[in-house]
Amino acid sequence: MPLPIGHALAGIALQQACPGFFSAHRWLDAFFFMFLANLPDADFIPGLLSGRPNQFHHGAFHSLGAALAVAAIGAGFFCLKNRRADARAHGRFWVPAAMIFLLFLSHLLLDLFALDLRAPFGLPLFWPFSGRYFIAASPLFINITRSSAAGDFFPSLFNSHNLAAALREVLILGSVALAAAWLRARTEKNRRARAGKGGVSGG
Ligand SMILES: [Zn+2]
Repeated sequence: MPLPIGHALAGIALQQACPGFFSAHRWLDAFFFMFLANLPDADFIPGLLSGRPNQFHHGAFHSLGAALAVAAIGAGFFCLKNRRADARAHGRFWVPAAMIFLLFLSHLLLDLFALDLRAPFGLPLFWPFSGRYFIAASPLFINITRSSAAGDFFPSLFNSHNLAAALREVLILGSVALAAAWLRARTEKNRRARAGKGGVSGG
């Protein structure tokens, strides 16, 4: 499992494709992208509450079935909210559903390409249709070491191994986010230039 910083950077990369999708406020918009890209790891919460943080991690909530359910519920809320604010803005159900699904999927894909030394290895990707676990043959990200006890779970995350893992994630996914930001800036610049030319010839 990559760390929250890695998943957040993947969310930011997707935000560059659709800036302002969740909110007109830039930072609130970025928060929603990062939150949804990290959401599957909310499966640590029931384990943390019961004293065994890893108990439910990489279970059913790390699957395409969960991604579909979260996308449907999230898009339902999104449509209700926007129906009041602006009926035209992302009013259709499938647009926010696809975006939420993509963000959730980005998390599953990154986890799939992470080294996992705890059995069962990987994710039950096709739950509820299959309980089989999947993991990439060649991992891109290093595993994260962590305690199995709730008491020292958070302190156990701070070690040199996890720091190396975090740096690797920042390097790889930060590059992807920067490339996406550069592409977005270039597209906007070209669009403004075309609009300017159109304005000159039209005037
Ligand atoms: Zn995860």
